Amino acid sequence: MSADETLSAIAREVGVCTKCPLHLTRTKAVPGEGPSGARVMIVGEGPGSNEDREGRPFVGAAGSNLDELLRFAGLARDSVFITNIVKCRPPGNRRPTTLESDTCHSYLRRQIEAIDPAFIVLLGDTALKHFFPDGTLASLHGRAVVRAPRTFFPTYHPASMLYNPSLKQVMERDYAELGRLLSALG
Ligand code: URA
Ligand code: SF4
Repeated sequence: MSADETLSAIAREVGVCTKCPLHLTRTKAVPGEGPSGARVMIVGEGPGSNEDREGRPFVGAAGSNLDELLRFAGLARDSVFITNIVKCRPPGNRRPTTLESDTCHSYLRRQIEAIDPAFIVLLGDTALKHFFPDGTLASLHGRAVVRAPRTFFPTYHPASMLYNPSLKQVMERDYAELGRLLSALG
């Protein structure tokens, strides 16, 4: 199977998945989207209400922030693969539980295997803790965390600058640093 076919198969499975309780309250599952050959993968927390309605990741206010931030890294949105830790919306936008994140993990794992990205950008604390349970954003944001064969790049969640405007500059610097890393590593 080609990477494209694998990603489509995963998206079909996610669309009808009932493995965790989040399936009970979702409108549409949100498998993620982007090119199968993406060098950079972006992992958020979970769909919000707009994403749940449309079945696509980062289409609401956090999504416009993300689009803007990606420009600081010199990345076009359609060049990256964007997905989330859980593919179905947690009711009321609560954080997904560890059980939900762990239950959903096999889809993310298979997406990572199919795309084989060099970089995985982790948006926010939920995504960070999923891969690095002891990591904190305060110490790791804006830095490359190498776990061969991939480089992880934790940063704040793009929704956080909606309620904490002082994070905007910090995040812009993080994405500029991501851009430098991407060009330095060719
Ligand atoms: N927040 C997320 O973590 N993911 C989305 O897809 C949208 C908002
Ligand atoms: Fe399945 Fe993941 Fe949706 Fe839970 S969040 S129902 S594991 S796709």
